[in-house]
Amino acid sequence: MYNITLIKGDGIGPEIAASVLKIIEASGVEVNWDIQTAGADVAETEGVPLPERVLDSVKRNKIALKTPVTTPIGKGFRSVNVQLRKELDLYANLRPCYNLPNVKTRYDDVDIVVVRENTEDLYAGIERQVNPDTAESIKIITRNASERIAKFAFDYAVKNNRKFVTVVTKANICKLSDGLFLDSARKIALEYNIPLKEILIDNCCMQLVQNPNQFDVLLLPNLYGDIVSDLCAGLIGGLGVAQGANIGNDYSVFEPVHGSAPDIAGQDKANPTALLMSAVEMLNYIGEKDKAKKIKNALFKTLESDIKTADLGGKYGTIAFTNAIIERL
Ligand code: ATP
Repeated sequence: MYNITLIKGDGIGPEIAASVLKIIEASGVEVNWDIQTAGADVAETEGVPLPERVLDSVKRNKIALKTPVTTPIGKGFRSVNVQLRKELDLYANLRPCYNLPNVKTRYDDVDIVVVRENTEDLYAGIERQVNPDTAESIKIITRNASERIAKFAFDYAVKNNRKFVTVVTKANICKLSDGLFLDSARKIALEYNIPLKEILIDNCCMQLVQNPNQFDVLLLPNLYGDIVSDLCAGLIGGLGVAQGANIGNDYSVFEPVHGSAPDIAGQDKANPTALLMSAVEMLNYIGEKDKAKKIKNALFKTLESDIKTADLGGKYGTIAFTNAIIERL
């Protein structure tokens, strides 16, 4: 019996959580879910969107599965996702992107791993209104954070037999900040037998769209990592299938790349695949490799049977799609 925190957000969060919990239960993995809510509704009743009880739960259990939580745009509270990553020092955001069976995309054989720094950059949230017509935002890049994420990317590459790491910056413009990130990657690369390639973010986006198969592991500062993750999600079938994990030295939080998708919430339209694939990685992480494989096989068989949600061109709702996966376990 595993003790795992489930951070339940809003939007499509509750629907995809219900789906994934049902599939995990049917697979035979016994989990004692410590369910913790977060987000705007919680802020109304408890005063803050991410109460201490959520952090305490992850600290206790060391591992969490998390659904998206809406971040107010241009106003309101600071992103719960960002706060969680910062408070628990989940410095590495890992987003493997590869094609799923029978999901039609522009390119075959995409196999890219996005490693995004998770704690600083413009996400430090240090902004000020200089005067009514001018606002400033501070981009923080430190050597410590840059070196540890570079080390994470190279360690991942070694463990997973990846061939090279590409560091992505705009060091020709942000000479000091991105320059430091690049310099840190170059320094760490010297400790490994894996080559480091360098590319500027604008060119990287074009190359990804024209020929994604030329990339292996991508190493990026926080903001570019966020944007490139969505781009890579688009290469493999969209946000509905893009998995992710936030990893630190002490805790790990597994969550999909996508946000709370309020436009489709409560309509039985959400694709639970991204959360399910994140959960599969979580099961691998805790050593439940056979069950992880079983769930992944059932998902793949479901997609191969042409049972898909609307975002992938299918006609199945979240619940019917979930039941079809369970039938194939
Ligand atoms: P955030 O800024 O919170 O990260 P985002 O920009 O990634 O959010 P999403 O909320 O993820 O935006 O949604 C973008 C679009 O993708 C929405 O129109 C939504 O309908 C679609 N989408 C996202 N996730 C899913 C999913 N699991 N299933 C189906 N469609 C999805």
